[in-house]
Amino acid sequence: MQTAHRIIKNYRRKRIIVCLVLSLSTLVCTLIIGFISQRNVNHQSTVAFVSHAVDTLDKILQPLETGRDVVQPLIGLPCVEVNFLLRKQAATLQTVRSIGLIKDGVLYCSSMFGNRDLPISQFQPQLPSSQPLLLLTADQPFLQGNPVLIQWYPLPGKSEDGVIEIVNIELIARLLLEPQLPIISDVNLTVGDKHLNHERQLTDSLVFGDDDNIYQQASINFPFTITVNGPGLTALALKTLPSQLPLAVIFSMLVGYIAWLATASRMSFTREINFGLASGEFELFCQPLIDAKKQDCIGVEILLRWNNPRQGWIAPDIFIPLAEEHNLIVPLTRYVLIETVRHLAMFPTAPGFHIGINVAASHFRGGELLHDLNRVWFSAEPAQQLVIELTERDTLMEMDFNMVEELHQKGVKLAIDDFGTGSSSLSWLEKLNPEVLKIDKSFTAAIGTDAVNSTVTDIIIALAQRLDIELVAEGVETSDQASHLRLHGVNILQGFLYARPMPLRDFPQWLAESSPPPASHNGDMMPSIS
Ligand code: C2E
Ligand code: CA
Ligand code: CA
Repeated sequence: MQTAHRIIKNYRRKRIIVCLVLSLSTLVCTLIIGFISQRNVNHQSTVAFVSHAVDTLDKILQPLETGRDVVQPLIGLPCVEVNFLLRKQAATLQTVRSIGLIKDGVLYCSSMFGNRDLPISQFQPQLPSSQPLLLLTADQPFLQGNPVLIQWYPLPGKSEDGVIEIVNIELIARLLLEPQLPIISDVNLTVGDKHLNHERQLTDSLVFGDDDNIYQQASINFPFTITVNGPGLTALALKTLPSQLPLAVIFSMLVGYIAWLATASRMSFTREINFGLASGEFELFCQPLIDAKKQDCIGVEILLRWNNPRQGWIAPDIFIPLAEEHNLIVPLTRYVLIETVRHLAMFPTAPGFHIGINVAASHFRGGELLHDLNRVWFSAEPAQQLVIELTERDTLMEMDFNMVEELHQKGVKLAIDDFGTGSSSLSWLEKLNPEVLKIDKSFTAAIGTDAVNSTVTDIIIALAQRLDIELVAEGVETSDQASHLRLHGVNILQGFLYARPMPLRDFPQWLAESSPPPASHNGDMMPSIS
């Protein structure tokens, strides 16, 4: 049989598991979302960085094209005449270090060095060329092998004559090729088959790590490409996870807490009982009351059974106290009343036939019981005698005695259940003025033993007889107990000796078959669970 403690523990365990699962999934989801968005942010910044670099270099190179128109007419003129103009033009184009004039394949005038006489093919084999060229190369004569970016513009139709503009590569390296750690660890400008990095090293090939994230973009205006590489986006995003952890933990704890609050009613015993009521999991059983002398059935006690498909059979000793604790005993008793009335045809219609219903004292508060009885019981006008069995002696204090009086007047009998087990039973006899006392089964069990309870049984019997109260002995299991009780004037007996509690639908057959001596009907609670 399930214990109340175990059932509540089960609910709590389930609730804890649900909240933990929710909380952990939130934590994992938050971290995954953080990871994905960080990865996207990293990718976006890489793309933005590269396209900004391409745009900027485009803007640096575009004025060279316009500058060409100013300089080209100077080709062929003596250097002394044009040198000043060349310098002025180089100064105007801030990104240009120097401008040179080439005539018949010879650099004869430079804005930086004045008169020269240097065949251009000596320091730049690709020049002169009939096509405009952008060259990334190591400059020998001018910059001692340092990398230079050269823009070559030939005179239309004359491949041997033209203008070279040498771009300020420090500016480019500083402006465009500076790494952006931790996302971008290397930036390269590629022109033709040469690559330049921020340290102004010129290489013939780009070298990347296996897991590097590589991204490149070519200019649509000039023949260059910007390539960046850095740690893999996944590895990078993973590195940022620890910093996201505290917020994710706080968020997931918040979700767990909200889930805890939200499941308070859903995953509770309260909900389980409500659910059980709605889905008809509760079933009414009855146990016959036997006339001690005539040995015939003079009534029944209605006992509730709960076949809970999730927990198995739950004994009333467990769910009744829990229902009382969770303020659900009133709807449960209401259900018992409704179902009893619905099955009235199962019982003899003799006016004295007892139908005992267990009612908790809390049902007496606020006139609720009377209201329910009027609505359910009296409206059905049953022929049988209703006996209200009061089970909760400890809370009798809160009882509405006016209602007790009204019940007496309406012909309802009051029985004090488990009499003798409470601490103040005697004083309540006077206040409640009950018609019936039910001797608790512990006293019945003591009959024939030397236990103090055995004496108490005799005292209870004497007391009831003195007060002219009907006595019902519960838990009669042996014929010795039955004889003893009968001899001492207990007129009504209830116990396994006569019948175990049985489903209401089985009662008519039991009644038909049971003729003294008592039948040993086996209608006890269904398969018990440990
Ligand atoms: P109770 O009102 O004292 O009911 C009598 C209990 O004694 C029943 O247990 C019954 O099966 C058991 N019993 C009957 N004859 C014997 C016997 O010869 N030997 C032994 N050992 N036991 C016997 P049950 O059905 O398990 O109910 C336990 C308690 O749960 C009831 O005690 C009552 O307090 C409560 N209960 C049951 N149904 C309802 C209900 O519909 N409403 C309320 N408020 N309480 C109920
Ligand atoms: Ca009872
Ligand atoms: Ca009892």
